[in-house]
Amino acid sequence: MLHFDEIVFGPIFSRRLGSSLGVNILPSVGKLCNFDCVYCECGWNKDGAVEGRRFPDLQEVEQALTSKISKAAAEGVPVDSITFSGNGEPTMHPDFAQIIDVTLKLRDEYFPDAKVSVLSNATLLGREDVAQALMRVDNPILKIDASSQELVEKINKPVGTYKLADVIDNMKKFEGNFILQTMFLRSEDFDTVASGALEAWRDIVRMLRPRQVMVYTIDRETPDKSLGKYTVEEMTAMVQPLMDEGFDIQVRG
Ligand code: SF4
Repeated sequence: MLHFDEIVFGPIFSRRLGSSLGVNILPSVGKLCNFDCVYCECGWNKDGAVEGRRFPDLQEVEQALTSKISKAAAEGVPVDSITFSGNGEPTMHPDFAQIIDVTLKLRDEYFPDAKVSVLSNATLLGREDVAQALMRVDNPILKIDASSQELVEKINKPVGTYKLADVIDNMKKFEGNFILQTMFLRSEDFDTVASGALEAWRDIVRMLRPRQVMVYTIDRETPDKSLGKYTVEEMTAMVQPLMDEGFDIQVRG
């Protein structure tokens, strides 16, 4: 399984993001998330529940970011993007909003053209500080994998209370200024794009009008071994009606 033991890692070069720094503000051991998605590349929550693990504090994150970014600048290494993902859900960090502000300040100082992105499962958008911080970054990439509460329970396995309807309501605050990320997958137990579910998902997209939609499927090793993926051609056909309506949709296999 994929794990990050540094707070700031990279830069890694990719065609999509250019030269990219990754930021993990979750504990370095295991996964910590209020979802336990069947496809999570970090494994199950229970497998990483090590006693004594902790979030890096604000000062540690600031120090790691400053050191990595200033070193890149001094060495003439480009930084095109700074992306928060890592070992779980970044918005669970108690100082998430302050960490975003520190990151934006360093970005402005050293690499003003770099884009700051956060991959989030959107569960904590009901917290005003979290929602506002996500609105300040260039790319809030927010997850909705399933169009019904029942499917969410099967795919994302929320820890604690999760109401899809509330998350959709909270996303409306972004007025479309976010990127929606959706994983299409199937197993013996469910299919995220069974006919009614797919149309309901398209209706969520139509309601939220995100500036971009990213759909993808299983890529790396997953904790649930019975999962099935979709091809790019299949996913393209699934989103075609939305593309025809003018939505910007990226399909990744
Ligand atoms: S939301 Fe992301 S980090 Fe959390 S369980 Fe799902 S895939 Fe893993």
